[in-house]
Amino acid sequence: MKFSVLVISLLVAALAVGGFFYLRDTSAPQIALNPEAGPVSAKKALLLDLQDSGSGLKELRVTVVQGEKTQEILNKSFDAGTIAHQESLVLSGAGLKDGPLELRVSAGDRSIYSFGRGNRVEQSFTLEYDSKPPTVAVVSTAHNLNQGGAGLIIYTVSEEPAKSGVQVGELFFPGFRQQGDTFACFFAFPWNMSAAQFTPRLVNIDQAGNERISGFYHHVNARSFPRDRIEISNNFLESKMPEFQEFYPETSDLLQLFLKVNGEMRGQNVQALLEIGRNTSPRPLWKGGFVRQLGAPRGHFAQGRTYHHNGAEIDQATHLGVDIAGLAQMPVVAANGGRVVFADYLGIYGNTIIIDHGLGLQSLYAHLSQMSAAVGDTVDKGQEIARSGASGMAGGDHLHFGMLISGLEVVPLEWWDENWIKNNISGKLAEIPGGAPL
Ligand SMILES: [Zn+2]
Repeated sequence: MKFSVLVISLLVAALAVGGFFYLRDTSAPQIALNPEAGPVSAKKALLLDLQDSGSGLKELRVTVVQGEKTQEILNKSFDAGTIAHQESLVLSGAGLKDGPLELRVSAGDRSIYSFGRGNRVEQSFTLEYDSKPPTVAVVSTAHNLNQGGAGLIIYTVSEEPAKSGVQVGELFFPGFRQQGDTFACFFAFPWNMSAAQFTPRLVNIDQAGNERISGFYHHVNARSFPRDRIEISNNFLESKMPEFQEFYPETSDLLQLFLKVNGEMRGQNVQALLEIGRNTSPRPLWKGGFVRQLGAPRGHFAQGRTYHHNGAEIDQATHLGVDIAGLAQMPVVAANGGRVVFADYLGIYGNTIIIDHGLGLQSLYAHLSQMSAAVGDTVDKGQEIARSGASGMAGGDHLHFGMLISGLEVVPLEWWDENWIKNNISGKLAEIPGGAPL
């Protein structure tokens, strides 16, 4: 009696253990593909993600099917204990034709389920093979740029681009679809680039990753910019630098603090402008010329500044924008219609408002004492948005005004010149069929 109970107990235990191992992992590996649909090419890698947290991955096979043709592009087995695997699939050399293709992925795990065969999964993805770059045609004819100034190019693209715009050195200026297949793109001839270095390229990359790079006719005028010598007095350091102490608490020497703000912080602020420049409307929000704030001109655009202290040169920087001085706390007005995308403290610029006018075009108002416009506000040309002041790196009450193309400062003077706007900007936009009248 006791013996049979023992045998039965052992049998039950053996079945339980066997069943545990047999049923321990009954789910197949999980497959994810990115992108899992849409256009692909040899230029765009597909990312395959495999997971099996039960018994682990054993094997993977990927085939490409197009019409009657089936070809294996991957066949691999995994070491024991492989829970997850990522594979970058490149379709190059697969002899594919443009058109639909099916990607079949099958994978198995190390489970002993299904009488030792393990859990298998087969999943198929339908993609569109596209090996042709988009067709691009430049519509606008004259692209005349002044060093430090702006330009506009109008062009058509034959298919929906993943990336479209003008590349100038390290800077990319995005283009925006206006009507049908017509795009408009503001770009700049950066103030710190020579005419010989300036080689703008129209870049269009389609959804499948095919790239079309085109040059286009342009004419440039080199400019030289004025220089200025600025005396950094002890009085300036003592009155101005405490404002910046909180950003560099470890720097107690006022001159060292000035050098950090004028160098490091200035660099961070320039980067911040490039970020803010991406927050833009795809349609123009402005009309006609830009209003110039009343007041006397002080600092010029792209003025090279040499800073002196106690008779010695201590630093150099470039002033990007124009300074306009009037009465203290004078009303500051929006240069044109747009939407406020920034209203906050911005380092050397102090209290700053940035208005987006669309297509990457923005205007900047700095050193403000009060701000009456807030982020998200829609403003009209000439509307009061703030009061001038001396916040940030300003020696006295004035408005620092800037114009930006995708976050890069450009010559404001061009935007105050109705003829320049008509010849270089609004005339081109008006030729877009059904485009916004400006
Ligand atoms: Zn200024």
